[in-house]
Amino acid sequence: MVDIEEARQIILRHIAPLPTEELPLLQGLGRVAGEDVYAPWDIPATDNSAMDGYAFSSAAVQGDSLFVSGNVPAGEERTTPVAAGEAVRIMTGAPIPQGCDTVVPIEDVETIGDTIRLLGDARPGSHTRKRGEEILAGQRAIAANSLVRPQEIGMLASLGKTSVRVYRRPRVGVLATGDELLEIGSLPVPGKIINSNSYSIAAQVAESGGDPVMLGIAEDEVERTCDRIREGMRGDLLITTGGVSVGDRDCVKEAIVALGGEIKFWKVRMKPGKPVAFAILEGKPVFALPGNPAAAMISFEMFVRPALLKMMGHVRIFRPTVTAALTGSIANRGDRPHLIRVRVEARKDGYAASATGNQSSARLSSLTAANGFMTIAPGTTLPSGESVIVSMLGRPEVLP
Ligand code: AMP
Ligand code: MG
Repeated sequence: MVDIEEARQIILRHIAPLPTEELPLLQGLGRVAGEDVYAPWDIPATDNSAMDGYAFSSAAVQGDSLFVSGNVPAGEERTTPVAAGEAVRIMTGAPIPQGCDTVVPIEDVETIGDTIRLLGDARPGSHTRKRGEEILAGQRAIAANSLVRPQEIGMLASLGKTSVRVYRRPRVGVLATGDELLEIGSLPVPGKIINSNSYSIAAQVAESGGDPVMLGIAEDEVERTCDRIREGMRGDLLITTGGVSVGDRDCVKEAIVALGGEIKFWKVRMKPGKPVAFAILEGKPVFALPGNPAAAMISFEMFVRPALLKMMGHVRIFRPTVTAALTGSIANRGDRPHLIRVRVEARKDGYAASATGNQSSARLSSLTAANGFMTIAPGTTLPSGESVIVSMLGRPEVLP
């Protein structure tokens, strides 16, 4: 039996980022950049106007009137210099013509025929953007291992990139085990239950950014389990659920070992989610998660998600946390840390966290009601109002 931290360290020691691939720009959204990207040119490429207005040389202004000798629409460049004492009409983004250093917005002038009168002072250089002020050719625009969000897509597009190099998504096999399991779509019959774990786990894989591959249900028998696991080894990572406890029919570990896998740990000091095994088989990680539905999801959260995120090149692999005030007291009279499912609400005076009722390892409803989870150490009672750290699965609830 290992502690949660120890288990995480063992796992992460055995996980390496996957290779990268080049994708059409927009398909890179949500992935992690696989390399540094440098600017091939300056942005902006020229000094340009920040406003629709008039450009001129501020040093050459005599009095407050300027003759307007031309027009520079967006998308065009004026190559002839603007004479001292003259101005040109200019659109936002248009290059500042030679002979000009300053722009006044349209609303700050009065037009009288072919001349303009400045209604206020024109500070030299005002309302202009300088060449390269955003980024200079050769500077790093995107760092490797940063998340590709819409703003990174925009930056890459402005650098003329049509594609982006990102870490590959892991293909993750999901295998349920248990003679009692029925596929969804079946009607429940006495003694049988619906295989829900394959779906909750596949959804967790997808939500983490991986690509789940359903491997169906293996009967509680070593040979059959071996066959399905072998099939699962075509992916990058395998998750099984159930059959990893100490029952007579719990044969997942035996199957992994029979196939030549090496069990790196079995059982973690936590509740729920104690019966978890982590193994390396054919050089690939295998997670044997518990069968109880809430325990399976929580152990995915604690152990599989960080591994998947590391494979996808993420640097931040753990959930963000918030500090919240506990509503009601919570006690852990056991000898293992308890992971308590909580609902966090944003209140006027800060976040409040409430346990979501019965915390049995079988109860999915305490997870559907939750948006976070927290740890309570063994032999501890936390009074109402205590400040606790909650790992967030989603957004805090905002009360109307
Ligand atoms: P096990 O660890 O295989 O003994 O499973 C523990 C409990 O979880 C049993 O009550 C199982 O019926 C239940 N369980 C196991 N696998 C699944 C599954 N795929 N979907 C829903 N419940 C499951
Ligand atoms: Mg079972």
